[in-house]
This record gives sequence, structure tokens and C-alpha cells, in this order.
Amino acid sequence: MTFFCPQCWREIQQTDERCPFCDADIKALEQRSFVQKLIAALYHPESETPIRAAMILGQLKAKEALPELLRLAKSSADPFIQTSAIKAIGEIGDASMVSELEQLPHSSLPIKARQAVRTALWKLKHPT
Ligand SMILES: [Zn+2]
Repeated sequence: MTFFCPQCWREIQQTDERCPFCDADIKALEQRSFVQKLIAALYHPESETPIRAAMILGQLKAKEALPELLRLAKSSADPFIQTSAIKAIGEIGDASMVSELEQLPHSSLPIKARQAVRTALWKLKHPT
């Protein structure tokens, strides 16, 4: 079985107490809450992981993840990650995100992400 540092996601030994790459305290990181682990997973180098993490954060309506989701929506170079971050923001449904989403540079977003912005904005403006 392969072990990864929960902070920098590089491969480590199961017995490492600190990450040899980023010096993270492995035990302390493993004691974080599920939501905090998901937020950290948003930066996993394999794109399926952040996409899944964003989806789960959306389902959990994890407001504490909003700043990181917004950062991904603005800065991720991967349109699938961007799209899932935007969808999650819509699911979490915090009205403070309306202006943030409206400020995203629409014309430079991939089509999928633009559709996600429209859907998320609609959800935020029409809470159920
Ligand atoms: Zn590390």
C-alpha cells in the first residue's frame, strides 16, 4: 500500500511521523475533520481527487470550504476542477457567493464552467 502526505500529496513511508518533503506533522493532519481533509484534497495532483472532494463538499454544504472552492474556481487550470468547484459553491448555497461568481471572467471560462456558473447563480438566487 502506498502512503501520501496529506498536505503535499507526495509519497511517504507509513512510518514517517513528519513528511520528508514539506515537514508536515502527519499524525496531527490525520486528526483533522473530514471537511478539512476534503479541503486539503482539493489540491491533490490527480484531478479526479479534487473533483470528487468538491462534489462531496457541495453535498455536505460545507461553508468553511467556500474560500478554497472560490480560489479553485478562479485559478484552476483544469476546466473539470473549475466546473466542480463552481457547482459545489452553488450547492453550498451561500448568497455571499453571488457577487463572487458574477465577477468570474466569463469570457475566459470553458463552456462547461460557464454553464456551471449560470446554474450555481440561479441556485444561489432561488434558494429552496
Ligand atoms: Zn508533505
